[in-house]
Amino acid sequence: MPPTGLPDSWDLEVEDGGESEVYGDALGLTFNRFSPGRILDRVAELARRTGAAVLPLECPVILTNQADRRHLPKTLRAEAIVLAPAALTGSAIQLLISPQPEPRRRPALPRFPYHPSPVATGSVTPSDAPCVCCGQERGWVYTGPVRAADAPDGGICPYCIAFGKAAERYDATFTEGIEGDVPKDVVTAILRRTPGFVAWQSPTWLTHCGDGAEFLGLAGAKELERYPDAVDDLRRRCAEWTWPPDEVEDFLGSLDKDDQPTAYLFRCRACATHLAYADFT
Ligand SMILES: [Zn+2]
Ligand SMILES: [Zn+2]
Repeated sequence: MPPTGLPDSWDLEVEDGGESEVYGDALGLTFNRFSPGRILDRVAELARRTGAAVLPLECPVILTNQADRRHLPKTLRAEAIVLAPAALTGSAIQLLISPQPEPRRRPALPRFPYHPSPVATGSVTPSDAPCVCCGQERGWVYTGPVRAADAPDGGICPYCIAFGKAAERYDATFTEGIEGDVPKDVVTAILRRTPGFVAWQSPTWLTHCGDGAEFLGLAGAKELERYPDAVDDLRRRCAEWTWPPDEVEDFLGSLDKDDQPTAYLFRCRACATHLAYADFT
């Protein structure tokens, strides 16, 4: 064995912070205890540039040249995979190590003017089940409250909410009430064609500048740090409860996105002021 100039083993670090132990010699290198991510890109690059075979543990061997198959031990020959050099990438190796189903592409959601990001707020989540209202597999399901005498427990797709089909079919609304006066068509849009949200008490939609506000999501003290205007709004509401100021500040500090009391954050569609109210059981 000619000297390689390589140490017996060393630690490889890559730009995403991933690491691997490497040891070997001029005939082969072993990457041990490697992190997911870019490490495999480095392994793939090395194999592309040297024409080396890649032997992931308990997986078929990856070759970049059909002629190399005959150099393999017989037991590995039949199963070996030949990839064009350009196709030998970190993700190709990753796929072999832990095959993942291709993520399903989901259609774009309908536009909800009063609830612009219902996936981010958790009111709409991916689902492969057919919608209970339209019977179609839309790729998404609404997970918020449905207020109706004979409403299904769940399973309505966001398209049936946006197009008013679910509201009509079940005589349903998706939020409890609206604070302040807004035109009738706005009331209808918010109650009947907008995904609602789960609150500790009956959910209330906030309004500003004569229009319904956009719901941005649940918020705790930490999330509200970025929205001093929303905190002012909460402070004003607490003052209406005639709480002493130190109790109000304690209350604001105890707001929690995942546990009560929780704040509900909105933004005015006209002037962009942030608004919030809070509740608890
Ligand atoms: Zn539907
Ligand atoms: Zn406004």
